[in-house]
Amino acid sequence: MIKLKPSVERLQAYFVNDIPYRVKLDANEGSNYLLTEGFKMESFSPNLYPDSDSVVLRKKMAAYYGCSPDNIMVGNGSSEMINMVINAYCEKDDRVMSFVPSFSMYQTYCDLCGAEYVGIETENDFSQNMDKLIKAVKEQKPKVVIVCTPNNPTGFVTPREDIIGLLESTEDSLVILDEAYIDFSEGSTIELINTYENLVVMRTLSKAFGLAGLRVGALIAKEETVRYIWKVKVPYNINVLSQYAAEQALENKDRVNAYISSVKSLRSELAENLEILGFKIYPSGANFLFVQSPVDNLYEKLMEKGVLIRKISYKGVAYNRITVGTKEENEILINEIKKINGEDI
Ligand SMILES: *Cc1c(COP(=O)(O)O)cnc(C)c1O
Repeated sequence: MIKLKPSVERLQAYFVNDIPYRVKLDANEGSNYLLTEGFKMESFSPNLYPDSDSVVLRKKMAAYYGCSPDNIMVGNGSSEMINMVINAYCEKDDRVMSFVPSFSMYQTYCDLCGAEYVGIETENDFSQNMDKLIKAVKEQKPKVVIVCTPNNPTGFVTPREDIIGLLESTEDSLVILDEAYIDFSEGSTIELINTYENLVVMRTLSKAFGLAGLRVGALIAKEETVRYIWKVKVPYNINVLSQYAAEQALENKDRVNAYISSVKSLRSELAENLEILGFKIYPSGANFLFVQSPVDNLYEKLMEKGVLIRKISYKGVAYNRITVGTKEENEILINEIKKINGEDI
């Protein structure tokens, strides 16, 4: 076989497992509530290339996010753009810094371009000591700093004053705020983009809009920064179907808000029910809960029952990340855990 370049050869391929399931609470996907039955494609020209600049989509996103279309670049999910940005800014051995544990893909994207991923450990309760990160940034001068808020997998929400503190002290690093889950919390930092030209905010339609299958995300930054990063955008990157469907979805602010409120209340209800069953729950601003289970091998036991959750091991301790499902899905989860505990349902 012809060898890949050495930095890539070392990597483990990322295969997503396709275990049969009844309830899928492992990937923080939402419900499909926007593009439901009766959804029609009215203007659809599969023979033509899509609008490479995604003019209509960016206009609708701008209205939703409260910025100008010039502040937005779109990509195939925000993860594609995080990869693109790391690749565009980092040469081999440049540093990328973030708190750990966080989104495992940051490490993967660094590996792909040979950048060094430096993880700054969070505290025992998974809160973030921003002074520690700022100190490390000053010492190690990373090219890129990534803060995921609410953080995947812990759910921790970075306080706004900490984000401002970071931005005030990192003029020489690009700061990516990964806000994939911010809709389920509050206080997006989008309005800071005009103050800090090194700030890039990543948003996605994969979580709160329930459209992970469309693969649509937004990079939001100061106009000059967007124009600059545009150099690395692949032409025609968002296909016709995804652009059209995303444009339609963005017209439904009220329904999105209603969905977000319902997820928030289901999140509290699920947390309470798990707490009753002896789980330790970490405060979450996202559409999932980060928990420590009183039952050993919960992931494997639930998988046998067709309920998928995530298992995460950190410093030798087992945790789980459980997506907040619909009322019915959460009930199935709770009932299966009760059965594992030997309770009669
Ligand atoms: C889900 C997720 C994303 C976005 O994924 P896309 O579907 O590629 O938009 C980005 N960051 C984190 C931390 C996520 O969990």
